[in-house]
Amino acid sequence: MNVIELKGINKVYHLEKLDVPVLHGIDLTIEQGEFVAIMGHSGSGKSTLLNILGLLDKPSGGYYNLAGIEISKYSDDELAALRNQYLGFVFQQFNLLPKLTILENVALPSIYSGSKDLKHHEDPAKLLEMVGLSNRIAHHPNEISGGQQQRVAIARALINKPLVIFADEPTGNLDTKSTEEIIKILKDLNSSGITIVMVTHEPELATYATRTIKMEDGIIVSDEKNKNGRTSSKVYNSRKFKHKLFSLARIKDYCTQAFGSLTANKMRSILSILGVMIGVASLIAMLAVGSGVRKRLENQLSGLGSNLLMVYAGSSQKQGSSHSIGTHMRLEEDDIYDLQSNINGIEGVVGYVTGSGRVVARGHNYNTRVDGVSHSFAEIRASYPTLGRFFTVEEDASRAKVAILGETVVKAIFGDKNFNPVGEYIKINRIDFQVIGVLPSKGSNGWRDEDDKVVIPLNTAMYRFVGSKELYYLDIKVADTADMNKVTEDIKTRLLTTHRLPLFERDVVNVLNMAEIRATMEAMGKAFSLLLGSIAFISLLVGGIGIMNIMFVSVSERTKEIGLRKAVGANNTDILFQFIIESVFVCCVGGIVGIIFGSGIAFLISKLGEWDTIITPFSVILAFGFSVFIGLIFGVWPARKASLLNPIDALRHD
Ligand code: ADP
Ligand code: MG
Repeated sequence: MNVIELKGINKVYHLEKLDVPVLHGIDLTIEQGEFVAIMGHSGSGKSTLLNILGLLDKPSGGYYNLAGIEISKYSDDELAALRNQYLGFVFQQFNLLPKLTILENVALPSIYSGSKDLKHHEDPAKLLEMVGLSNRIAHHPNEISGGQQQRVAIARALINKPLVIFADEPTGNLDTKSTEEIIKILKDLNSSGITIVMVTHEPELATYATRTIKMEDGIIVSDEKNKNGRTSSKVYNSRKFKHKLFSLARIKDYCTQAFGSLTANKMRSILSILGVMIGVASLIAMLAVGSGVRKRLENQLSGLGSNLLMVYAGSSQKQGSSHSIGTHMRLEEDDIYDLQSNINGIEGVVGYVTGSGRVVARGHNYNTRVDGVSHSFAEIRASYPTLGRFFTVEEDASRAKVAILGETVVKAIFGDKNFNPVGEYIKINRIDFQVIGVLPSKGSNGWRDEDDKVVIPLNTAMYRFVGSKELYYLDIKVADTADMNKVTEDIKTRLLTTHRLPLFERDVVNVLNMAEIRATMEAMGKAFSLLLGSIAFISLLVGGIGIMNIMFVSVSERTKEIGLRKAVGANNTDILFQFIIESVFVCCVGGIVGIIFGSGIAFLISKLGEWDTIITPFSVILAFGFSVFIGLIFGVWPARKASLLNPIDALRHD
């Protein structure tokens, strides 16, 4: 039976500028059980022919039939399966994978055969015993001699019970003793029925073969049966060629490979994991800060009430206008009562005088904001004290030295925010005050701690504290939000009239509408989240590009390995998956570490700063999903590049 049948095989290498014809119409038939030695000068085309025979390279023209299968009709993946099931290779450079153990190297081709059935596999440990290396199975290739490495390579070639073994100068790198051992093993294999095609330029070795072919300049010049050679009549392998299927076992192998390659290049893996981790961590932390700020803002704004107007004096000074330079209005206490009784639709008016004060008590001192407020403050701003009481109208009128403290001030002065300071005496800017209450906590509004203040009666503040009767601003609560615009206009008209200012000078009275402020702040909050999110997204993208870079390095570093894997039967999908899984794995680890790290950062921010942070399940899923997605996207390109390499080109790569 013919295992190999060649008719008119040509090979032309296409170089950049010229075509190099190397094989010129090779006709050759090899029968099962033969041991063929191919000889010839260096450069005569022996390796080129052997690579074509071994399906590692494709001929430029001609007919090739291997074990009854016409090769030209087969796809790359089917050729890979053929190499895996029918052929074994022994190279001059051994081509063992340095990171795998001897045993793993021998078992390598069985990964790609998609079957764990021992009917189709040899036991790798038994094969190693056969080549005399059973005490070395856990070693790595660099720990054994060249002759031993080549014996491992032969064991590897046998793992899938091949029909034919191709050996390209298998003893070219070995000393005489190892050469003898190798040739003896090959001879024994041939006797057991395996067809062997071996390239050599040592005539001594050719004497072991049953047939010697001589090549010169790309043609066969002689073809002789050896006198002492006898073709083995045993039929070693009579399996039907089966196209392998995708198996779960192989996915497990991809993962092991990806993991192995990551642990083999620890520094590089750590750096790329770091890249993804930083991206994911910042995504998590920034989303947490963003949603925390928005939540806080919402709380604050809902406490503010959308039916509040803030009134303060402005000036009508406009650029280029000559008639009203420096027109100004002073808001005074009378305005509070005047507006309250003369404008329809108003629920209440609060007047404010604000300054900063140094609070001293029990040997502690603390700088804070001091607000002088009119009596309606407690009701209009929902600020009835949680401890003690608010000041009375009489205390305001008599300029009583009483103070109500915010929680932050209580903590700063008395050491504990839950301390009850009612009845204590404190000094504010050297003036003695008695504490009569503690304000309810309003929290921080994102930029200012609303509990960091002291409230005193308006008249006390005007006469004892700032020494001026001018109010800083008014808060006006409107009964019905639908009236906001009308009330705003009424307030302006009323204030201009009572202050005897022309009615067209409406800019002299500023009225801020809280509903508008609220809408603006909400929009700001959204923009803030979006900004943070996009910064984080960009850092994730940068991490992804880092991954891609490293994957490209990994591909070019491992080109030879890819070549070998393809030679022993890995198809394009196998290689693609191996690299994609590697990149997705890096991104998953980076993603998980990043989520933990980002949550830590968010937690720290909320502990150390005034910011609230909220980690939503959505942001965790988003960040993790993104990192896996990035691993896929940025892994595919290098992985595809790796998978499309021609086996022999990859093997020749240095
Ligand atoms: P041998 O194995 O007999 O020494 P080869 O088959 O390796 O010879 O090479 C035969 C000829 O083809 C040589 O002239 C060599 O330079 C050329 N050759 C081999 N491989 C390539 C290649 N990949 N690209 C271009 N030329 C090549
Ligand atoms: Mg050669």
